[in-house]
Amino acid sequence: MVGVSGVTADGAPFTLKANKGVVLATGGFASNVEMGQAYNKHWLPLGENIRSTNVSSSTGDGIAMATEIGANVIDMEWIQLVPAATKMTVGLSASINNTIYVNHEGKRFVREDGRRDDMAGAALAQPGQEYYRFSDMHLYEEIGGLTTYGKQVDEVVDGVNLIKAETLEEMAAAIGCDAQNLIDTINAYNSYVENGEDPEFGRKVFGEKLDKGPYYAVKGEVRVHHTMGGVEINEQAQVLDTQGNVIPGLYAAGEVTGGIHGANRLGGNAIADIIVFGRIAGENVSK
Ligand SMILES: Cc1cc2nc3c(=O)[nH]c(=O)nc-3n(C[C@H](O)[C@H](O)[C@H](O)COP(=O)(O)OP(=O)(O)OC[C@H]3O[C@@H](n4cnc5c(N)ncnc54)[C@H](O)[C@@H]3O)c2cc1C
Repeated sequence: MVGVSGVTADGAPFTLKANKGVVLATGGFASNVEMGQAYNKHWLPLGENIRSTNVSSSTGDGIAMATEIGANVIDMEWIQLVPAATKMTVGLSASINNTIYVNHEGKRFVREDGRRDDMAGAALAQPGQEYYRFSDMHLYEEIGGLTTYGKQVDEVVDGVNLIKAETLEEMAAAIGCDAQNLIDTINAYNSYVENGEDPEFGRKVFGEKLDKGPYYAVKGEVRVHHTMGGVEINEQAQVLDTQGNVIPGLYAAGEVTGGIHGANRLGGNAIADIIVFGRIAGENVSK
């Protein structure tokens, strides 16, 4: 019998007992504001105003439990922020082929095909820390007229979080920017599409020109999305203590672990992480 006990992030006592061992797979701490504030070194203060894309249970309980019994943590300072829809149920797509980001002045401010940390940093620097994902009918056609939640786009247009406008002037009025600014931004961007080069921000991925109304804009903010830090494991998914020794019977896999993704997880790699290390941990714990 193997047993571990301690106190969770919210102070609740716990005991885990198993015949052979325990696999921690409790995810990261993207929804734990206090933990984010304690470990954050690279962003402005991460207060309650910076919301998370994660479910509310991503509170780092496994990290707290493992450290209670001597586990080492690694890369805790690397907290991933991403630009995300203010109302996630009206998000149109993660695709940026036919999308640009504009701020409340109707101006682009970043290459939309950039690194997540660069885009998040740029979005945080905008007035109100807000921006809009601007697109036209080309995106609508690309996504088959459905939101990321599978709803008909036009049924969830609310004029605030998801705006639809027949003209650029109408869109400018809805997002509160100068119409000429927005028109200039779109004209400049369309010339970059034509030339395959973005001299302003260095974007490399282009779809169609944004010239086919009606136009759509999704209001966006920056959210905590992934926590790259967590308990240290070896290649057998065994948890290591602060001296680098294996803690017998304790395994971990997924976002509860650290040291897998470096400073900035690439989109898609978390699934590889959880499957690869989940399988290794499962096989080893059952031996
Ligand atoms: C909106 C969104 C989109 C994403 N899209 C992608 C993508 O396209 N590709 C990609 O690779 N990654 C993506 N990710 C990241 C990826 O989903 C996560 O990194 C991954 O799900 C982490 O898996 P996990 O099993 O480690 O933890 P989780 O999936 O977070 O599961 C942890 C589980 O442990 C439970 N738990 C926590 N604490 C306790 C406790 N004390 N007691 C009991 N149970 C507990 C939780 O309730 C939860 O069920 C996305 C993340 C989000 C939020």
